[in-house]
Amino acid sequence: MIQIWDAHCHRSLVDSEPISLGSHCFSICGAIVNATKPADWPKLPLRSDRVDDRTIIHLAGLHPWFIAASRELPWRDSLRDLLDQGLGGIGEVGLDGGRVKRAAGFTEQVSVFQWQLQLAAKYELPVSIHAVQANGILLAALKGVRLPERGIHLHDIHGPQALIRQIQQLSDVWFSYGPRLLLAANADWPEQVLRGIPEDRLMFETDCQAGEVDLASDAKFPLALLRLAELRKLPIAELVSNLTDNTRSYFLGR
Ligand SMILES: [Zn+2]
Repeated sequence: MIQIWDAHCHRSLVDSEPISLGSHCFSICGAIVNATKPADWPKLPLRSDRVDDRTIIHLAGLHPWFIAASRELPWRDSLRDLLDQGLGGIGEVGLDGGRVKRAAGFTEQVSVFQWQLQLAAKYELPVSIHAVQANGILLAALKGVRLPERGIHLHDIHGPQALIRQIQQLSDVWFSYGPRLLLAANADWPEQVLRGIPEDRLMFETDCQAGEVDLASDAKFPLALLRLAELRKLPIAELVSNLTDNTRSYFLGR
């Protein structure tokens, strides 16, 4: 059985059925579950729910897509309370230059993002970051605040390489990728994105969404893992062991 930790999702697949592919059987043995708007934030108690050797770590944060709808809510107080009660980290938070920018512009997005980053630094907790069409602004926002000493996690970030290198000069950076990149129609794309990502900073994510269970989409992760093993030229068991060690080290270390 190939067992892996999911470094970024919105619904845990820890209890789902193992999936057979090729000569292996795959399952998710631990998950970092991100609740991205106050209505979804976990209820107490939060200390990681451990069942046998399986573990779920809860993160909560205000995602740029939900800023506009949360303006009137006391979400800052709620998030601080969750941290005091043992929340595992902040996420998913970040910047989005897509359509959402009309509802919450970059000025507001940056202030919400930086407020949550400084909270992660203050509590010395992991932070899982979303960045889409926001390259220069992301760099400036990260430069403008203290970051957690353990570093930051950029989830499914697609470069460019120059930006990644500049961020790596500011902070220790951890990366995660999953089916969205690895099974992309343009087969050259994953290779380009993954070039330059250090082996000991790479993690795997399903990014499976909250709410409705989508079995077809949930079942994609073993194929993505096999593709990653091919790209990294590593035996699947060794790759998965590295990815899991990295995930545990960033989210559970210190
Ligand atoms: Zn996500």
